[in-house]
Amino acid sequence: MHITVIGGGLVGITTAWYLLDSGHSVTLVDRAPELASEASHANGAMLHASHTEPWNTPQALGQLLRWIGRENSPLLLRPTAIPSLVGWGVGFLRYSRAHHHARNTAVNARLAVYSLRLMRELEDRVAIDYTQQHAGILKIFRSEAEMQTAHTSSALMADAGVRHEALSPAAVSDYEPALADIEGDLAGGFFYPDDASGDARIFCQRLGEAAVERGLTLRLGESVRDLRVEAGRLQTIETDHGTIDADAFVLATGAEAPRLARQVGVRLPIRPVKGYSATLPVGGIEAAPAMPIIDDGRKIVITRLGDQLRIAGTAEFTGYDRTIRPQRVRTVLEQGLANFPALTAQIDASAAEQWACLRPMTIDGPPILGESGVSGLYLNTGAGHLGWTFAAGAGRVVADMIDGRTPAIDLAGLTLNRYR
Ligand SMILES: Cc1cc2nc3c(=O)[nH]c(=O)nc-3n(C[C@H](O)[C@H](O)[C@H](O)COP(=O)(O)OP(=O)(O)OC[C@H]3O[C@@H](n4cnc5c(N)ncnc54)[C@H](O)[C@@H]3O)c2cc1C
Repeated sequence: MHITVIGGGLVGITTAWYLLDSGHSVTLVDRAPELASEASHANGAMLHASHTEPWNTPQALGQLLRWIGRENSPLLLRPTAIPSLVGWGVGFLRYSRAHHHARNTAVNARLAVYSLRLMRELEDRVAIDYTQQHAGILKIFRSEAEMQTAHTSSALMADAGVRHEALSPAAVSDYEPALADIEGDLAGGFFYPDDASGDARIFCQRLGEAAVERGLTLRLGESVRDLRVEAGRLQTIETDHGTIDADAFVLATGAEAPRLARQVGVRLPIRPVKGYSATLPVGGIEAAPAMPIIDDGRKIVITRLGDQLRIAGTAEFTGYDRTIRPQRVRTVLEQGLANFPALTAQIDASAAEQWACLRPMTIDGPPILGESGVSGLYLNTGAGHLGWTFAAGAGRVVADMIDGRTPAIDLAGLTLNRYR
């Protein structure tokens, strides 16, 4: 078959890779001049099956109300975005009920564990250096209540195979000496030995090069404008450069997926949620952390990528506005660096590379994989805050579904059918 993947972020490139494995002729089209130009460009870099709780936690409504209008809060709702969130927002809060949240955490963990296993296999097959580290991930907590919540969610994820170890504050510093200065502020932490980290953009671009060597046709700088359904089947897409015919198409356009899908009558309950990152040079500075760290209370992730330190976080409901707001980046940076006073004294935070982009967030948490209801159109989108973690697994699952193979994991809770 000839298959066209629309979107060249993490999700599109891994889907294309696994479709090549099945012997298909594959084209990937992206509007940007290079792969990984949007959400996959400078994310938190964590491959974290340990962090698979959907963001609409049972505490979400209280947090949203408490943080409303506060420019330095981890979760921000901008008034201009409210009209686009009316129906979706009600559903987002409905899915925050404890039983939905627990079920969707387990669904995400199932896909994440599978995906991290595939990442290891991919690394064995394709020698890609993406500053990966297979050293596990540390989560830190400042209150006993947060530790209790982490015990509960870790137990839930353990059922899917995510191993964990609860840590005292002193044990946190043993794992990451750079946290010793704030040991007294911590209630404890958790260590997840099977998690990993690495630069998503470099991974996408290197896997893209390897895919081109295997026959992938890359059409970059080409924007898809129209999906044309004829005789009940999607056979052609129109771009700003012409048309592309294929036997099947995979929509992997991240936060843009709902706008394209709507053209053919497919409604995807996905909204863009903006996040920020700052990347700092820290080469040669001993006080810089080596471990990937999740500061749960501040909703910040901190990841070492070779000579650089990436600090990422915040969730901003602001429609499709991609503007990098310096105040938000400052918040992310300050909150991340507050954990490392010795490092902060040695760096120039104003030299940080700033980034903002939109996560494609589903109403309930898990991504949407597979059939769209329109013949010839498949979906791989909605990975929210977990697109790096899910990429290999989601790509493989969608390739399996297109080929009529039974995927290696149960798909309950991962397809569009769950909303019907
Ligand atoms: C601040 C931040 C931190 C994050 N940290 C982590 C993390 O630590 N771990 C983790 O697992 N996940 C993380 N994520 C989430 C993860 O980055 C995303 O889920 C993932 O990048 C989504 O990948 P994607 O391929 O679906 O979308 P994208 O990377 O956005 O790719 C979509 C592609 O579609 C293209 N496109 C869109 N419209 C069109 C069109 N009309 N025609 C042609 N091309 C089009 C775009 O150019 C883009 O390249 C983070 C996200 C953010 C914002």
